[in-house]
Amino acid sequence: MIITGDSLIGGQAVKGTGAAFRAYNPSQQQSMDPEFFTADSSQIDQACRLAEAAFDTFRAIGDDKRAVFLETIGEQIMALGDVLVERVMAESGLPRARVEGERGRTVGQLKLFANLLREGSWNDVRVDKALPERAPPRPDIRMRMIGLGPVAVFSASNFPLAFSVAGGDTASAFAAGCPVVLKAHFAHPGTSELVGRAVAKAVEICGLPAGVFSLLTGVGNDIGQEVVRHPSIKAVGFTGSRSGGVALMAVAAARPVPIPVYAEMSSINPVFLLPKALASRAEDLATGFAGSLVLGVGQMCTNPGLVIGIAGPDLDRFKAAASKALEGGAACAMLSPGIAGSYKRGISQLADNADVNTLALAPQAEGKAAPALFDTNGAAFLKQHALSEEVFGPASLVVSCKDIAEMRQIAEGLEGQLTATLLMDDADLDAAHQLLPVLERKVGRILANGYPTGVEVCSAMVHGGPYPATSDGRTTSVGTGAISRFLRPVSYQNLAQPLLPEVLRDDSGVAWRRLEGELTHK
Ligand code: NAP
Repeated sequence: MIITGDSLIGGQAVKGTGAAFRAYNPSQQQSMDPEFFTADSSQIDQACRLAEAAFDTFRAIGDDKRAVFLETIGEQIMALGDVLVERVMAESGLPRARVEGERGRTVGQLKLFANLLREGSWNDVRVDKALPERAPPRPDIRMRMIGLGPVAVFSASNFPLAFSVAGGDTASAFAAGCPVVLKAHFAHPGTSELVGRAVAKAVEICGLPAGVFSLLTGVGNDIGQEVVRHPSIKAVGFTGSRSGGVALMAVAAARPVPIPVYAEMSSINPVFLLPKALASRAEDLATGFAGSLVLGVGQMCTNPGLVIGIAGPDLDRFKAAASKALEGGAACAMLSPGIAGSYKRGISQLADNADVNTLALAPQAEGKAAPALFDTNGAAFLKQHALSEEVFGPASLVVSCKDIAEMRQIAEGLEGQLTATLLMDDADLDAAHQLLPVLERKVGRILANGYPTGVEVCSAMVHGGPYPATSDGRTTSVGTGAISRFLRPVSYQNLAQPLLPEVLRDDSGVAWRRLEGELTHK
């Protein structure tokens, strides 16, 4: 399949009239062909209007047909073969194994939502039948979920497949019956076009209205903001920087009709080294931590950017072993020059901070990142908010605390996070009990004796957390729960059976339903 540099609007390849730009190969440090053209206002308007026009048909096709559509997207992505894998590698600098793994995850995610549609519980059917004898009589009331409407999705730089054109936001929006207008990330426009063409092909194969999917290519904040402002758009999915997410939240809130923005933004993913585990296996914990820190050149939203332990010889052993594991690490290409520049600034600020010691700082190189490890004490960390800001890349800060009470105080002072990790032995249960209530309030996922990188795609996963980890801590962007971001409930009171949606009729045979307040599984 040839990459043309076009946007894809309702199935048609359309050349933008805005700024021209090229993809950049971060490993070879050179621009790539072809030239891409930024979509203009009339093209943005057309994509959004087509999405709105497609909404009623798309949501009415039924769960099974939408499941087939999701599976067809997966098949079309796989059919792109090595062309896709090589383009992702070139545009991201990520190695083949990671890209192939991410492709598998993307296709698996589409299948997960297809299975959810066939199982049916996403409808959240509730039926309260009429009670005519009651005083006052109760009417027949039934509820189900419907899609919100067209969703604007912003793809992420750090997962060019799994959090991008056909990633989790798009898959969950489609599953909810919502058309998608996709703002491609300027760092991987070729990847975006290839996957966009696979989605458009699936739309065609499944006989869906072409407006179900559009891909807008381009550079500059205007294009994304225009999409979010468009009256046809009813919700936003975003993964990226805190500044980007916050800017889009402001745009969405200032509309005449405000809409929800589900933004996954920044997290430093604290790792708590509990005392008994640290005493018994400091070196092993350090090795595991170092492996997690450098995964994907540290460009993971779940990267362990903060380690908290109790000062003493065991924490010293951890720091020594982690430093040893990290200081030999070679500098690797980051996803884009912008991200490499932010990393360089972030580690310089830490290195220059009078309250911070540099434990390991491998030689850096232009456009690349090598691992960096710093340490400070609990009092300094509590005093300086800047020490808890995300440095996107393979850098982490160890905080030496006086005792468990100070660890808890640090947990209490943290902003919302995607994850918190407890590295612990059975003998650390008391310490863990002291931290848990705080962590439950602060994070979306608490894990023990593992590392936060590597987010399983499954029903029970929460990849979310209180602000600023995300814009709305009630949600997740990974796992089947992600669908709920793009749904809203509708009640039907006293509607005759033929008027009711099929899932609410007495003879629907729906698998899951809440009947008279009881959850039944037929
Ligand atoms: P980004 O700059 O937030 O960009 C993400 C998407 O949002 C792009 O399509 C971008 O397009 C758009 N965007 C950004 N700011 C916008 C604004 N003010 N108005 C409208 N649209 C906007 O994220 P990135 O390029 O992926 O990475 C930049 C930094 O984000 C990194 O250095 C890192 O600190 C952080 N990051 C964090 C995570 C995480 O998971 N925590 C993941 C990735 C990146 P345009 O620029 O074309 O408008």
